[in-house]
Amino acid sequence: MTPYSIHWFRRDLRIPGNTALRETYSRFKGRTLFIFSIDAQFLERPDFSHNRFGFFLKTLKNLKDELQSVGGDLLVLDKGPDEAFSFLMEKSKNRPKLVSFNRDYEPFAKRRDSRITELLEQKYGVAIESHKDHLILEPSDVLKNDGSFYQIYTPFSKRWLEVFSEKKKAGDLKTSLQMSSKAEKLFSLSWKEVLGENFESLDCLDRLILRNSSQITVPLPEAGFKAAIRCVKNFQEKIADYTTERDIPSHAGTSKLSVYLKNGSITTLQVLELLDLQKSISKPTSSPHKYFKELIWREFYYHILSHVPNVENSAFQTKYKNIKWQNNEKFFMAWKNGETGFPIVDAGMHELKQTGWMHNRVRMIVASFLTKDLLVDWRWGAEYFMNELLDGDLAPNNGGWQWAASTGCDSQPYFRIFNPELQLKRFDPNGEYLKRFLPKGPRPKPIVDHATQKIKAIELFKSQR
Ligand code: FAD
Repeated sequence: MTPYSIHWFRRDLRIPGNTALRETYSRFKGRTLFIFSIDAQFLERPDFSHNRFGFFLKTLKNLKDELQSVGGDLLVLDKGPDEAFSFLMEKSKNRPKLVSFNRDYEPFAKRRDSRITELLEQKYGVAIESHKDHLILEPSDVLKNDGSFYQIYTPFSKRWLEVFSEKKKAGDLKTSLQMSSKAEKLFSLSWKEVLGENFESLDCLDRLILRNSSQITVPLPEAGFKAAIRCVKNFQEKIADYTTERDIPSHAGTSKLSVYLKNGSITTLQVLELLDLQKSISKPTSSPHKYFKELIWREFYYHILSHVPNVENSAFQTKYKNIKWQNNEKFFMAWKNGETGFPIVDAGMHELKQTGWMHNRVRMIVASFLTKDLLVDWRWGAEYFMNELLDGDLAPNNGGWQWAASTGCDSQPYFRIFNPELQLKRFDPNGEYLKRFLPKGPRPKPIVDHATQKIKAIELFKSQR
């Protein structure tokens, strides 16, 4: 049999500009098969979300259809990757020459990838190749002169932009936005040829979509690369006003690209290209540059997670590792249900429940409120966000929560505590956001007194110093 390769999809669910896929495609002249493995363990995780999983499956379905239209064959297995690859290697009439994937920087993913690399290379003699895809610059690309990593965003972003410009000049940061336009057959191999007749029942995608669908509680956005491109084009018309509009939660002033970036329907590099953001480097106070800097925040949190994997469960600033959060269950429930009696907080929590998304300004307000007014551990809030957010993504979620809780790198100082009333006056002065998301009827009374809680929060932090 002519040599072939397998591309293992994970958080790179698109064809255009998919780095590892492009490489393997050209090397194997289209003799590439595709796999996605769904680990049952993942469905049991406390941070699992049926809504996010639903959007993920919708994206996977879209990808499968797009691959099919160009002759590609994606097999979705309901087996974890260890079992899935062992199964494929044992059942294949001929083993692939290469398995390719795009790199992931989450602690769990890094452990998984080194396990699978060892399994395939050592047990089955199959080569592995990984590529950079969902980040523009990897953690090892942006370091200080002494080789240590940046812990503060501003110098990080400065260095990031320097490295970016150097790599761009050298032609190292190329991507593609092209979908194959004339339904030409790019791929020429099917799983049937490799696994034999009975392989079709192995594909679990439709089964999972059906099983998960009854648990979806929010409207799911359109999925896939083309939907992501439409989202960028829509934002292109608004980007000139981003600096002023991005903080007003009742306005649609942000790009809403986070759901697409999360699963790799599009990458930040493609967004940069489409919006021509490189031009903004020479205009550091412009709105496009402000937007560019937000994409760099995303990279910053990924780099931090990669360098300090234990931030997933522990304070980045070790002196705040053992804060005695009060963790009052009733307060936590009131916060989750949008019943704290603080209108901007409650509206945010209702937005999250109703839509699976929350405006960034309000994310900061509700996270600050949970940790500094209700004195509840940021990890409780981060997990609840992961349960509800369609864009729930470990690195930015962890970074955002640790920022608000003042336990993170370059975070809000512990004594600077958002006043929810002032935040409301400043960012929703006419109550439009409240009107949209607060339920009608009588409102609960505030469950705490902000001024009293602020003093308690400051004491809590001071006691750790
Ligand atoms: P835009 O304003 O259009 O920004 C464009 C892109 O830049 C975003 O899609 C995102 O990829 C990136 N970005 C913007 N702001 C930030 C930021 N503060 N930190 C890191 N990246 C940023 N973002 C997630 O993608 N997933 C999460 O789970 C998540 N959880 C968060 C939790 C908290 C407590 C906070 C304060 C922020 C969180 N964020 C998270 C960051 C931010 O709120 C969202 O990325 C943003 O609201 C998504 O909407 P958008 O795409 O319209 O943003």
